[in-house]
Order: sequence, then structure tokens, then C-alpha cells
Amino acid sequence: MTILQNAIDSIQLGIEDYELIKENPKRLISCTRNLFSGILLLFKYYLYTLNPDLIYIALKSKEKKKTLDFKQLKDKLDESQVLIEWGELEKIQKIRNDIEHKYSDENPLIILGLVAASFNVINDFVRKYLQRDPIELFGEEVWSILIEVDRVYQIERKQCINDLDSNTYYNIKILELIKQSNCSECRFDLIKPLKNNADADQIRYRCLFCFQENDYHELIVSAIEQEVDYQQRRDSMFGDSLNELFCTCPSCWMNAYSIESCFCFSCEYQAKQICDVCESSLTGDEISFQSKFCSSCRNRYEKVMAE
Ligand SMILES: [Zn+2]
Ligand SMILES: [Zn+2]
Ligand SMILES: [Zn+2]
Repeated sequence: MTILQNAIDSIQLGIEDYELIKENPKRLISCTRNLFSGILLLFKYYLYTLNPDLIYIALKSKEKKKTLDFKQLKDKLDESQVLIEWGELEKIQKIRNDIEHKYSDENPLIILGLVAASFNVINDFVRKYLQRDPIELFGEEVWSILIEVDRVYQIERKQCINDLDSNTYYNIKILELIKQSNCSECRFDLIKPLKNNADADQIRYRCLFCFQENDYHELIVSAIEQEVDYQQRRDSMFGDSLNELFCTCPSCWMNAYSIESCFCFSCEYQAKQICDVCESSLTGDEISFQSKFCSSCRNRYEKVMAE
């Protein structure tokens, strides 16, 4: 019970800090630390309910036991098949690690994003794994603050989506990829085009959270990378065979060639995608290197040449 109580205390303290940031900007630092450690304690508590030994690792040299660090905790949860939105948690961790030198209270979205990401992780985990009602656990006051912050964050996000929707793309799939992508620097999803009603490939984009700016080509490459990562994780989790969606473009060499849509999402190049002999589909590598033949036709050809 004490682990759970510590988790609750830490999260409540984090929200108390949050309420006081306006009066004392230094509270941002303790707010971040309290929320992050409160969430890790919730995870530890759950592992503890599965098996109390899970939250310790034995030190090889001595008889002593040590509690888990972040990486070890993540591994144990993965082993126990606990599905956590690690992306959300990594955002919080990144703010916690960078807070003192990189972020300032001058950008109110930092605080908003931090609390909203915490809300997502806590809400999901408490309901799904602890099977508790978060209002009962954290109290009505704390919980209503979390819900309100998330609501305001979602309004910012909606505005970004509307702006992205107003622009013109080569293909609707590109818009979908950009909409679901996160900033490559801070991982938050508040990417705003710097112009509306424009051609998407002619303008720049800014992350409202960390202010990183990208042009269209950088943005689409990053969005594709995230999509491929996500697909690979999902395929491996469900034991599906890997589905090749993108490969390196043979023309611009960006990792942005869509095998499915038959053109490059960065430069619009259309590559040859079938074997000259048997007309079967080429693999991503074969498309990237503009191979004339599929591997079995190439093997047959090489054998004939060798004889
Ligand atoms: Zn960012
Ligand atoms: Zn290209
Ligand atoms: Zn062939």
C-alpha cells in the first residue's frame, strides 16, 4: 500500500506545484519531477501486485537489492506484457531531463503539454491496469485540474490540425502521416504550418512546444520514420510478417518513397516497381537501387551466365 500512497502523494504534489507556477516559476521544476516520479511509482506498484520481487534487482556482487531504474522498469513492464504509451512517458522524461537548461516558463505550452501527457499516462494506466477510478484515487480537485489541462491542450492541437487541413498535399496519405506525427525533437504533437491555404511542400513548419522549425521534406521524412517504427513494433507484437511500406527514394535519396502509393512523398519521383521479366513486385531495396529484375530472376540469370 505504501508504494501506491507514495505515487498518489507525488502526483498530488505535482499538481499543487502546477497551480503555483504562475506565482513562482521555479515550481515548474518540482512539478515535472513529482509528476514523473509519481507515474513511475504507479508502475512499480503494479509490478509489486504481480510479484513483490519484480521491483528489485539483485546486485551480483553483494546480497543487497536495489530498486529498478527507468530502463529496468521499462524492461520489466515489457516482459510482463504491460502496454504503456512509452512515447508519452518519454516526452515527460525529456522535459524532466532538460527542464533546467532548455525550457522556460515563458512558453505556457510547456506546462500544458507536460501535465496533459501525464494525464494521458495516468488515466490510461489507472483504469486499465490498477482497475481503479482515478477520481477516487487522486481526489476530485486534482483530477478536475488534469482534465481541464488536457482539454486546453486538445484545443491547441485541434488548431494545428485545422491549419494542416487547410493546405494542399500531393496525396491525402501525406496529410494523414503529418497529422499523426510528433516533433522529432520534443515528441509533442503541436506542429503548425507557418502558412495556411498553401502548397504543403512550399512552406515551413514550427513545433509550438520546442520551436523547432522544419521544411516540408524534413517533416515528411520524420513522419514516415515514426510511422514505420510504429508499424514495425505493432507487427512484431502481433507476430505479423513485416510489411514494407516505404524505402529510400532512388531519385532524392530521402527515406520517403511510398511503395504503396508508387511515388516519393518528398520529391514526387515515380520509380519502376516491377521485375522486367516476370513482372512480380520488387522489394524496397530493389526499388531503391533501381534493379531491373526481382531476386529469383536475377539468380536465374546469373546462373545461366556462369554456365
Ligand atoms: Zn518540438
Ligand atoms: Zn524522392
Ligand atoms: Zn522476376
